[in-house]
Amino acid sequence: MVANPTLVFPERSELSNRDVSEKLLAVENVSLEYRTRERIVRATHDVSFDVYGGDRFVLLGPSGCGKSTLLKAVGGFIEPVSGSISLDGQAVRGPGADRIVVFQEFDQLPPWKTVLQNVAFPLRVAKKLGRAEANERALHYLEKVGLTSFANAYPHTLSGGMKQRVAIARALAMQPRVLLMDEPFAALDALTRRKMQEELLRLWEEVKFTLLFVTHSIEEALVVGNRILLLSPHPGRVRAELNSHQYSHDSFGRNDFQRSVARIHQLLFEERETAR
Ligand code: ADP
Ligand code: MG
Repeated sequence: MVANPTLVFPERSELSNRDVSEKLLAVENVSLEYRTRERIVRATHDVSFDVYGGDRFVLLGPSGCGKSTLLKAVGGFIEPVSGSISLDGQAVRGPGADRIVVFQEFDQLPPWKTVLQNVAFPLRVAKKLGRAEANERALHYLEKVGLTSFANAYPHTLSGGMKQRVAIARALAMQPRVLLMDEPFAALDALTRRKMQEELLRLWEEVKFTLLFVTHSIEEALVVGNRILLLSPHPGRVRAELNSHQYSHDSFGRNDFQRSVARIHQLLFEERETAR
């Protein structure tokens, strides 16, 4: 597949904004399949990308192109049929506390635990922290997402946006090498979604985590990401990789932003017809 050369990611040496970053995650020629009794569904084909420390790396593609499957593979829940995934040079062999996922669904928090317990519990189990230390760290991250006063609330009393904030605090408190997010704001109303995108960027400025973020929204990809991997429709193949660190919500009305949206749309959908 020949991608639009103007959109291909420039040589690494041209990038000034991450001279000091290191390669954390290497996904090399990964194909992923689901095998049911009747048939084999190929979800992604020969996908490669690298995520560097401090990246906000976005996987962008239409519904069904294998984004969630790729994220599950990075999470260690699915094994590639070919290719390899490694983190810090070590092959990924199953789930681990170094990769934490935030999902789209609002019901990812056990409802019988308070907000504080939701965030502290994985710290006690996976990080073996004592109660006091786990609570202290949980409160630290709840403060970062603005939920200090809801520490003792139960999830069902929270709005969708607040539940996602708890899920983000819980994930960040684990201090993973890579934070994985699978369309975390897709079920929110437009205004809350935009607010959450802004908050995520603010958190990133503050905590400087490494993010692998999945979305099917071109605008969201451009705003959230510093790099975007475009995936073709099912089965997902790499269409192009591009830089997007120059965009924010302030870019929305601007011509260059609208041009990028249009070009990505073309790469994702329209060129497919002629490329076949
Ligand atoms: P996306 O997240 O990009 O919408 P998915 O990764 O969920 O896409 O799915 C990729 C492809 O794999 C789709 O064609 C989907 O129907 C298929 N698929 C997903 N989950 C399963 C499953 N458990 N069993 C069989 N096929 C699946
Ligand atoms: Mg998905």
